[in-house]
Amino acid sequence: MKKKKLSKQQLLENQKNEDKKFNRILIISFSLLVITVVSVLTFYTYGCDTRFLYHKWAWYGKEIPGEWACMNGNNLTLHKSLKVAYNNKAYYFCSQECFNHLVKHFTEVAMVPDAYSGDSINKADALIGLKEKGKPELVYFKNAETLSRYYGSGK
Ligand SMILES: [Zn+2]
Repeated sequence: MKKKKLSKQQLLENQKNEDKKFNRILIISFSLLVITVVSVLTFYTYGCDTRFLYHKWAWYGKEIPGEWACMNGNNLTLHKSLKVAYNNKAYYFCSQECFNHLVKHFTEVAMVPDAYSGDSINKADALIGLKEKGKPELVYFKNAETLSRYYGSGK
Protein backbone atom coordinates (compact mmCIF):
# COMPACT_ATOMS: atom_id res chain seq x y z
CA MET A 1 0.00 0.00 0.00
CA LYS A 2 2.79 2.36 1.00
CA LYS A 3 4.79 1.43 -2.05
CA LYS A 4 1.92 2.24 -4.39
CA LYS A 5 1.42 5.61 -2.78
CA LEU A 6 5.08 6.44 -3.21
CA SER A 7 5.16 5.58 -6.85
CA LYS A 8 2.09 7.68 -7.42
CA GLN A 9 3.81 10.59 -5.79
CA GLN A 10 6.87 9.91 -7.84
CA LEU A 11 4.78 9.89 -10.97
CA LEU A 12 3.34 13.25 -10.04
CA GLU A 13 6.83 14.56 -9.37
CA ASN A 14 8.00 13.35 -12.75
CA GLN A 15 5.05 14.96 -14.41
CA LYS A 16 5.84 18.25 -12.67
CA ASN A 17 9.46 18.09 -13.81
CA GLU A 18 8.40 17.37 -17.36
CA ASP A 19 6.08 20.37 -17.29
CA LYS A 20 8.83 22.60 -15.93
CA LYS A 21 11.20 21.46 -18.68
CA PHE A 22 8.60 22.05 -21.33
CA ASN A 23 7.85 25.51 -19.99
CA ARG A 24 11.51 26.42 -19.99
CA ILE A 25 11.91 25.34 -23.62
CA LEU A 26 8.80 27.27 -24.55
CA ILE A 27 10.06 30.45 -22.86
CA ILE A 28 13.50 30.18 -24.49
CA SER A 29 12.03 29.54 -27.96
CA PHE A 30 9.62 32.40 -27.58
CA SER A 31 12.36 34.78 -26.41
CA LEU A 32 14.55 33.81 -29.37
CA LEU A 33 11.66 34.39 -31.73
CA VAL A 34 10.98 37.82 -30.26
CA ILE A 35 14.67 38.77 -30.44
CA THR A 36 14.86 37.65 -34.07
CA VAL A 37 11.74 39.55 -35.08
CA VAL A 38 12.88 42.71 -33.30
CA SER A 39 16.36 42.49 -34.89
CA VAL A 40 14.96 42.05 -38.38
CA LEU A 41 12.48 44.89 -37.93
CA THR A 42 15.17 47.15 -36.47
CA PHE A 43 17.47 46.39 -39.37
CA TYR A 44 14.80 47.15 -41.95
CA THR A 45 13.74 50.32 -40.17
CA TYR A 46 17.07 51.73 -39.06
CA GLY A 47 19.60 49.80 -41.18
CA CYS A 48 20.37 52.73 -43.47
CA ASP A 49 20.65 55.17 -40.58
CA THR A 50 22.93 52.83 -38.68
CA ARG A 51 25.15 52.41 -41.73
CA PHE A 52 25.13 56.18 -42.31
CA LEU A 53 26.16 56.80 -38.71
CA TYR A 54 28.94 54.24 -39.07
CA HIS A 55 30.23 55.83 -42.29
CA LYS A 56 30.28 59.28 -40.71
CA TRP A 57 32.62 58.07 -38.01
CA ALA A 58 34.60 55.28 -39.63
CA TRP A 59 35.40 57.07 -42.88
CA TYR A 60 36.96 60.13 -41.32
CA GLY A 61 40.51 60.41 -42.63
CA LYS A 62 39.88 58.01 -45.48
CA GLU A 63 39.08 58.40 -49.14
CA ILE A 64 35.34 58.02 -49.61
CA PRO A 65 33.96 56.18 -52.63
CA GLY A 66 32.12 58.58 -54.95
CA GLU A 67 29.01 56.43 -54.89
CA TRP A 68 28.41 57.53 -51.29
CA ALA A 69 28.52 61.22 -52.11
CA CYS A 70 26.28 63.84 -53.63
CA MET A 71 28.52 66.29 -55.43
CA ASN A 72 25.85 68.94 -55.52
CA GLY A 73 25.10 69.16 -51.82
CA ASN A 74 28.58 67.95 -50.78
CA ASN A 75 27.10 65.47 -48.39
CA LEU A 76 27.62 61.85 -47.61
CA THR A 77 24.51 60.03 -48.76
CA LEU A 78 22.27 57.63 -46.89
CA HIS A 79 22.08 55.37 -49.91
CA LYS A 80 24.39 54.87 -52.85
CA SER A 81 24.28 57.79 -55.24
CA LEU A 82 23.95 57.80 -59.02
CA LYS A 83 27.01 57.96 -61.21
CA VAL A 84 26.50 60.38 -64.08
CA ALA A 85 28.88 61.07 -66.95
CA TYR A 86 29.06 64.73 -67.80
CA ASN A 87 31.71 66.31 -70.06
CA ASN A 88 33.53 62.97 -70.08
CA LYS A 89 33.87 62.94 -66.30
CA ALA A 90 32.02 60.94 -63.69
CA TYR A 91 30.00 62.77 -61.05
CA TYR A 92 27.78 61.40 -58.33
CA PHE A 93 24.36 62.65 -57.31
CA CYS A 94 21.59 61.75 -54.92
CA SER A 95 18.90 62.93 -57.32
CA GLN A 96 18.15 64.24 -60.78
CA GLU A 97 17.58 67.72 -59.28
CA CYS A 98 21.09 67.72 -57.87
CA PHE A 99 22.54 66.81 -61.25
CA ASN A 100 20.50 69.54 -62.95
CA HIS A 101 21.71 72.06 -60.42
CA LEU A 102 25.35 71.18 -61.00
CA VAL A 103 24.96 71.48 -64.76
CA LYS A 104 23.23 74.85 -64.40
CA HIS A 105 25.85 76.24 -62.04
CA PHE A 106 28.81 74.24 -63.19
CA THR A 107 31.70 76.53 -62.27
CA GLU A 108 30.35 77.35 -58.81
CA VAL A 109 29.36 73.79 -57.94
CA ALA A 110 31.73 71.44 -59.74
CA MET A 111 34.91 73.42 -59.12
CA VAL A 112 36.10 73.49 -55.52
CA PRO A 113 39.23 74.39 -53.63
CA ASP A 114 41.33 71.56 -52.29
CA ALA A 115 40.54 71.50 -48.57
CA TYR A 116 44.23 71.49 -47.68
CA SER A 117 46.10 73.38 -50.39
CA GLY A 118 43.31 75.60 -51.68
CA ASP A 119 44.06 74.70 -55.32
CA SER A 120 41.03 74.79 -57.56
CA ILE A 121 39.99 71.28 -58.57
CA ASN A 122 37.15 69.54 -60.35
CA LYS A 123 35.11 67.34 -58.02
CA ALA A 124 35.15 64.57 -60.61
CA ASP A 125 38.96 64.40 -60.40
CA ALA A 126 39.14 64.88 -56.66
CA LEU A 127 39.47 62.53 -53.75
CA ILE A 128 36.54 62.83 -51.37
CA GLY A 129 36.77 62.97 -47.60
CA LEU A 130 34.77 63.93 -44.53
CA LYS A 131 35.16 67.49 -43.33
CA GLU A 132 34.56 66.58 -39.69
CA LYS A 133 34.25 63.33 -37.81
CA GLY A 134 30.62 62.35 -37.29
CA LYS A 135 29.26 64.94 -39.74
CA PRO A 136 28.08 64.25 -43.29
CA GLU A 137 29.75 67.25 -44.90
CA LEU A 138 32.36 66.45 -47.55
CA VAL A 139 35.59 68.07 -48.67
CA TYR A 140 37.70 67.44 -51.76
CA PHE A 141 41.37 66.86 -52.32
CA LYS A 142 43.66 67.15 -55.33
CA ASN A 143 45.58 64.01 -54.43
CA ALA A 144 46.43 61.53 -51.67
CA GLU A 145 49.08 63.86 -50.30
CA THR A 146 46.79 66.79 -49.54
CA LEU A 147 44.25 64.31 -48.17
CA SER A 148 46.69 62.79 -45.71
CA ARG A 149 48.02 66.22 -44.74
CA TYR A 150 44.51 67.49 -44.08
CA TYR A 151 43.81 64.66 -41.64
CA GLY A 152 47.26 64.00 -40.29
CA SER A 153 48.00 67.40 -38.78
CA GLY A 154 50.36 65.76 -36.33
CA LYS A 155 52.52 64.18 -39.05
ZN1 LIG B 1 22.00 65.68 -53.82
